Amino acid sequence: MHTVVIGAGPAGLTAAHTLRGRGHRVTVLEAETTAGGRTHSEHFGKGHWNDTGAGWLASFYPETLGLLAELRETGGLRPMRLRGGGDLLLDGDLHPAPNSLARVLGTGLLGPGDKARFLAYMAALMMRQRGDLQIDMAWDGIPALDTLAPAGRAAIERVVRPTFEGPFFSRLEEMSGALVRSWMRAIATGRFFQVDGGMDAPWRRLAASLDVRTGVRVESVREGAGWIEVVTPDGSHRYDTAVVAVPASVAARLAPEHAAAPVLSGIRYAPHVRLYAARRGEGPPRSGTHAFPNDTVATVELSSGRGGAWGHVPDHWEWLLVCAPAATSAPLLDLAESEACSRLWDEAARIDPRIFGLGTADVVHLVRWEHAVPVVDTGYFSRLRELSQRPPIVFCGDWLVQPCVEGAVRSGRIAAAVLT
Ligand SMILES: Cc1cc2nc3c(=O)[nH]c(=O)nc-3n(C[C@H](O)[C@H](O)[C@H](O)COP(=O)(O)OP(=O)(O)OC[C@H]3O[C@@H](n4cnc5c(N)ncnc54)[C@H](O)[C@@H]3O)c2cc1C
Repeated sequence: MHTVVIGAGPAGLTAAHTLRGRGHRVTVLEAETTAGGRTHSEHFGKGHWNDTGAGWLASFYPETLGLLAELRETGGLRPMRLRGGGDLLLDGDLHPAPNSLARVLGTGLLGPGDKARFLAYMAALMMRQRGDLQIDMAWDGIPALDTLAPAGRAAIERVVRPTFEGPFFSRLEEMSGALVRSWMRAIATGRFFQVDGGMDAPWRRLAASLDVRTGVRVESVREGAGWIEVVTPDGSHRYDTAVVAVPASVAARLAPEHAAAPVLSGIRYAPHVRLYAARRGEGPPRSGTHAFPNDTVATVELSSGRGGAWGHVPDHWEWLLVCAPAATSAPLLDLAESEACSRLWDEAARIDPRIFGLGTADVVHLVRWEHAVPVVDTGYFSRLRELSQRPPIVFCGDWLVQPCVEGAVRSGRIAAAVLT
């Protein structure tokens, strides 16, 4: 059985690895020049890299941690503090972000009544919600803000909104209640890890052990009588089965005739643009600023010291990360790079005047993701149930399970199971 896997992100590589283990001959086609997808790390010299996509893995990622253990890759996991470990900028004042239960208890941003309401909400939620990102479908058709209402307005604004709007690049207003509930445990018990050498390091090593062809952008996938035809700029090739492991809207374009196309094309993505800069020299002590409410810039993080939240800098460097929310990112996607950099920089400087000047940076790197994460809006998981997955073409990607690496890994396992 010769299976083609389209896309060498965590979903495609997990599917390829699993299928190979079950006796398939597997060829992976990847459009970019390296494997890893949205876990891509950009390297700027020895001990200096920036994780341009995924920045952490979590203790509640059982499938990912299991796969990394199977691949003998867990030695590279380094504990870190979740983004949000910085400060919240509220009405011009900086406050430690209350993004864990201990910080909620200690914060001055919530009164005693607010804290009691939030803790009661969390206790009730944790009785029902398992710790492994399980989706409780009873809450999928209910907007996140409605499911959170018993936690109280103050906790929603000060705890939940700052913690989740950054990673999901979406507003709480449009998220599914089931999504937010499945992540609330992260606040209570989550531990987070960076990956030594960059987030994509284990994925690139896995890719090296597989037949992965990079720089091959697939143009279409079609089902024939007993075969799959995959068209690339080099011509068309036939396989027995296919795993399409690309963002859902891309998958819909590759296989427009497939029965799954209407569901796939209905999945929207939040774009994300961010700017990473670093320069030699000791800066101010480690500190992060979460501009909030996140209108034009979601976060401005300024730090010195080796372990940056989004990669690693050598000794005696300082670094800066400016992340834009979806609304700001969209118009920056096609703008000239220098213009996009200066817009983000100016915005960041308005929020945090301590940042160093763009002209003084030794490294400036603009990151633009058109498909950063799927927007998991109200009713999302119910709509996914209409997707029929059957051989010879199956679809996978984070959009199928959860908008994170764990979702991608689980989706890759699901795709492999459908084909075997
Ligand atoms: C800025 C950012 C921060 C994030 N932070 C985190 C985080 O901290 N923790 C976390 O768990 N998750 C995070 N995520 C999400 C995580 O990166 C994704 O959920 C995960 O990478 C999805 O894996 P995937 O395999 O489904 O898709 P991808 O990683 O996108 O892989 C899809 C692959 O398909 C390839 N491809 C696309 N079109 C074609 C084509 N036509 N032909 C051939 N190949 C094609 C792409 O080049 C890509 O390599 C973040 C994402 C972004 C963008």
